[in-house]
Parts: sequence; structure tokens; C-alpha cells
Amino acid sequence: MRLYEFVRSFDLAIAWLRHTESKAVHTSENTKPVLTTILPELEGSAAEVFTRNVFFMVRKHLNRQGLLISEGWSEDGGNRTYYYSKYGGHEISWRVDYDRSMEKLICSCMKFESKGIPCAHMFRVMVVEGMNRIPEACISKRWTKGVHCSNNGMKEFVADEQLTQMARYGTLKSSCNTMCYYASYMDDAFNDLQQMFDKHSVDLKEKWIDRGYGGDGFAMDSRVRNDRSRRTFGLLDPRVSRCKGDHKHAEAKKKRKCGHCRLQAGHNQRTCPYKKNSHNTAVDDDYMENCLDDSLEKSFEIGTGCSDSGEWRGQAFVPQPFGSGGRDTGGQQRSPGER
Ligand SMILES: [Zn+2]
Ligand SMILES: [Zn+2]
Repeated sequence: MRLYEFVRSFDLAIAWLRHTESKAVHTSENTKPVLTTILPELEGSAAEVFTRNVFFMVRKHLNRQGLLISEGWSEDGGNRTYYYSKYGGHEISWRVDYDRSMEKLICSCMKFESKGIPCAHMFRVMVVEGMNRIPEACISKRWTKGVHCSNNGMKEFVADEQLTQMARYGTLKSSCNTMCYYASYMDDAFNDLQQMFDKHSVDLKEKWIDRGYGGDGFAMDSRVRNDRSRRTFGLLDPRVSRCKGDHKHAEAKKKRKCGHCRLQAGHNQRTCPYKKNSHNTAVDDDYMENCLDDSLEKSFEIGTGCSDSGEWRGQAFVPQPFGSGGRDTGGQQRSPGER
């Protein structure tokens, strides 16, 4: 799976979760369930406290309390202990301890400890004790309404200062888009907006300096933002690694030197323009004269004493013969193509 495919699916999943949650929150907070049991006080208090899905689970247990058969009870100071068994099955029994001063119920089935919702045995005791609401101690906070926004018991999210700044920058930038689009159609709006931007930029920069923010400001910051190695956050494209046979990013090839004149002029030994003279070890006089005339003309035109076919030594022009003798020094000569 590609990274962008993953991010798209991830966004979709998150959006689905948020939608489901807000739907559940809406149902819990803005609607009331129809009370169906014969104990509307207890059922009503459960509907008030718990979220809707949890309420349905709790109501199931509230209905089951009618199936319990009392196996007697005992009293010890402020505490009462009730024993129950299920209708039709006497072999299992439960024991519920009721602390009257604390209004606390502890059942041996441990449903409240494991799932966080009061069990049928607790409801039975509530009925016997004549309670008209579920005691606080039998409500676990995580199933109650409004717990999703109070964020109880969770570590508070501390936003990174730089991340906050980045997020704000992005938000502001994108919220300008609409304004800029419409303003770009009208002359007066365009001018107004530009003046406003200039004014606010100066004002905000002064404020920024007054409040003592360090750094070089916008220009430097945007350079850092684009520098991959200095970024510590955000999503980047993967690094492109060069593989075998990938010559797209290779440096430009070096120009080949001519094997004859040692110049990088784009010709080779076979097509070398100087080759025709190389078979003479002694340079013939006509060629020398031509060279001399050419270079004199050139030196007057360009104002330099050097030419390709020779050099000035003192006041006399000494032409350099091409061929086997000139090869050693020929490499340092300027190439005709570079002129
Ligand atoms: Zn129980
Ligand atoms: Zn050549």
C-alpha cells in the first residue's frame, strides 16, 4: 500500500469513528428512552446517568432481578449481607454486601468490578432496600454521559509550541484563499486587500519583535521549512534512492578529449581539424605565415596577445607546432570551442 493510500483510508476511518461517536452522543444527550420495566424510578435514574448503549445493558440486568430468590440475609452493625440464588437453579448463589452508611454494594459475581455496570443482584438489594435511584458507588464514571468532554483521569494533551504555530499558520493561510480568489476579480477589492495585507504585515511584525520572539522571521523560517534535514515533524515524501541503471540523475558526462590535440572540442582523433598538419614534423612556412597573420589580426581585434595556435614571448610571436612535439603542452591550451 502506498503512503497516500494509507493516509486516505486512515482519514476515512477516523471520519467514520467521529461520525459514529457524535451520533451516539446526540442520542444519549437529546433523546429519552421509553421506560419498560416495572421499576421506573431505578430505570429512570439509569437512563439519566448512563449513555444509551450502556443503559440498554443495565436495563437487562434490572429486568433479571425478578428471577432471584432470596436465601436469607444477615445484619452486622451497619452492614447487611443478602444471599440470592437464581430461579430454577439453586446450586449457584450470590452474596451481596451492603454498606448502609456509604451506600456501597459489593456483589460476589464481580460484574461491577469487571464491566462497570451494576448486576441483577445489586438491583435486587436496591429494590429490597427501597432505593429510588442507583447509588453513586454503583456508577462507574466511564459509562456516564458527558465523560467524553470532561476528559477525566486522562493526561492532558500538551501541544508542542512549534506544532501549534505550524497549525495556525496553515489554518490562516488556507482561510485567506477564498478572500483572495474573489478579490482577484475586482480592481478596487484587489487594491484594498493588498493595502490591508501590507499594513497588517508591518503591524504584526512589530508586535512579533515586541513580544521577544527570536529568529530571523519569515524569510529564514520558510527556508528552514523547506529544508528536509532540519525538519522535525510533518509528513515528507520518501527519499529517492538511485538504483542500478538509473542514469536520470547522473551528472552530465565529461566531454571526450581528442586523442590527437588533447582538446575537449567535441571532435575525435579521426576528425581532428589540426591533424592534416601533423604528418610534417617541420611546420611548413605557408602555415606559419597564415597562423602569424591570423593571430596578429585577432590580437588587435580582441586585445589579447594569445591565440590558439601560438603565444607571445616577449614581443615575438612563437607559433607552436602541432603534432608529437606539441602534445605535452597542448593540454593547457584554450579550446577553440570555449572562445
Ligand atoms: Zn451480582
Ligand atoms: Zn583534435
